[in-house]
Amino acid sequence: MSDKDLFRQEVRAWLEENCPVSLRTPTPDDELVWGGSQIEFKTQDQRLWFERMRDKGWFCPGWPQEYGGGGLDATQENILEQEIRRLGCRPAQINLGIWMLGPVVLKYGTEAQKQRILAPMTRGEVRWCQGFSEPNAGSDLANIRTTAKEDGDDYIVNGAKIWTSYGNKSDWMYALVRTDNSGSKHHGISLLLIDMHAPGVTVSPIDLISGKSSFCEVHFDEVRVPKNNLIGEPNLGWSLAKQLLQHERAAMSKFGEFSLPTHYDLLALSKAYLSSSPAANNASLKARITAADMEEQAYALTVQRMTEEARSGLDVNGTMSIMKLVHTEQEKIKFELLLDVMGYRGLGWQDDAFSEQELGVTRAWLNSFTQTIAGGSSEIQLNVIAKRVLNLPDASKVEKTQ
Ligand SMILES: Cc1cc2nc3c(=O)[nH]c(=O)nc-3n(C[C@H](O)[C@H](O)[C@H](O)COP(=O)(O)OP(=O)(O)OC[C@H]3O[C@@H](n4cnc5c(N)ncnc54)[C@H](O)[C@@H]3O)c2cc1C
Repeated sequence: MSDKDLFRQEVRAWLEENCPVSLRTPTPDDELVWGGSQIEFKTQDQRLWFERMRDKGWFCPGWPQEYGGGGLDATQENILEQEIRRLGCRPAQINLGIWMLGPVVLKYGTEAQKQRILAPMTRGEVRWCQGFSEPNAGSDLANIRTTAKEDGDDYIVNGAKIWTSYGNKSDWMYALVRTDNSGSKHHGISLLLIDMHAPGVTVSPIDLISGKSSFCEVHFDEVRVPKNNLIGEPNLGWSLAKQLLQHERAAMSKFGEFSLPTHYDLLALSKAYLSSSPAANNASLKARITAADMEEQAYALTVQRMTEEARSGLDVNGTMSIMKLVHTEQEKIKFELLLDVMGYRGLGWQDDAFSEQELGVTRAWLNSFTQTIAGGSSEIQLNVIAKRVLNLPDASKVEKTQ
C-alpha cells in the first residue's frame, strides 16, 4: 500500500473513531463553535470534537508543529480535507484568525510573533475579528482613515471601523491603519493587531432589519498599541492586506463544504419536495436544478485542482477571486432554486409549523446575498480578475482593489 493510501486509511479510522456521530450533520447557524476566550459548547460532543481536533493539531493541519500545527504536507492535508468532507464532519471550530491572519503571520511575522500569535490560535484560545472596512473605505479599501501615530514603543490609534463581524465577541482585531499620509493612498497603510479590551476601544453592535446581526462598529480613541503588534514593515501593509484578502476569499470559496450552515444538498432536497408538489412536472425548474447541480460539481472539482496547484507553489493571487465570485454567486442561485422548490415551505421565519431544515434554508437564502458582498463584492472580484488575472487595461485608472 502506498504512503498516501496508508495515510488515508489512518485518517479515516481516526475520524470514524473521534468525530461524534451527532456532529456528522450540517451545522445550524447557532451551533457553530467559535474559538476564543468566550468559547461556548452547546453539547458535550462539540467539546469532545473540539478538544480532539485541537490535540491532534488539525485546526491548522498544514502549519508547522512548532507553532501548534499538524505538520502535514500538501497531499496529506488534502486527504484530510477529503475525508472530513466524506464523513460530513462539522468544523470543530470557526476562527477567522486561522483562515486569514495566520498564513500572513507565518510568512511575514517575526519568530517572536509566530510563537505569540499562532500557538494560541491553533489551540482555539483567541477569537479574531477583521478591522478593514470603514465608512468611506469598503470597495475602495485603500481609502482608510484610521490613523496610528508613533509614540515611543507604541502607536496611538484613532478612528473607526465598520461592518466588523463579531467585533463584540472577539479578543483581538487585525486592522489596517494609516501610519503615513504623505504618499499615494496605497502607501502608508500598516497591518496592526489591536487588543479589543484595550482602553479606548468601543464596540457598538449594528442592528439589522432581520433582528439578528453580527455587525459592529468599532471606535478607537487614543488607543495605545505596542509596536511589536505590527506585522511586516510599517507603511507597506497594503501588499499584506491584499494577500490576507486572498486568504479570506479562499476560505469563502469553500463555505459550501465542510457542513457549514450553507451546506444543503440541492438534489436531495429537490427530490423530497417535488415528489409531493404540482411543480414536479415543471420541466424548466428541473432543468435549472440539473444545471445548478452540474455547476456545483464542476466547481468542487476545480477547487480541488486549484488547491493542489496553490500548494505546489503556483501563484493563486487573483485565482481566489474567481473562486470566491463563482462560489458565492452559485450559492445565491442554489438557494433561489431551493426556495422555488419548497414553495410556501421556504417562507418560514420562526414558527413551529416549519422544520429546522426549512428555517435553515430560508436563512441561508438571505445569507447568500451577504456573501456576494463580504470579502469584496462580486463587482470588485470582476475588477480584480480583469486586472490581475486577464491583465486587461484599467479604463478608469482608478485603483479599487478590494
Ligand atoms: C456579511 C458581511 C460581513 C462583513 N464582515 C466584515 C468584517 O468582518 N470586517 C470588515 O472590515 N468588513 C466586513 N464587511 C464589509 C465588506 O468588506 C464591505 O461591505 C464590502 O467590501 C463592500 O464595501 P461597502 O459596503 O462599503 O460598499 P461600497 O464599496 O460602497 O459598494 C457599493 C456598491 O458599489 C459597487 N462598487 C463599488 N466600487 C465599484 C467599482 N470600482 N466597480 C464596480 N462596482 C463598484 C459595489 O460592488 C457595491 O455593489 C462585511 C460585509 C458583509 C456583507
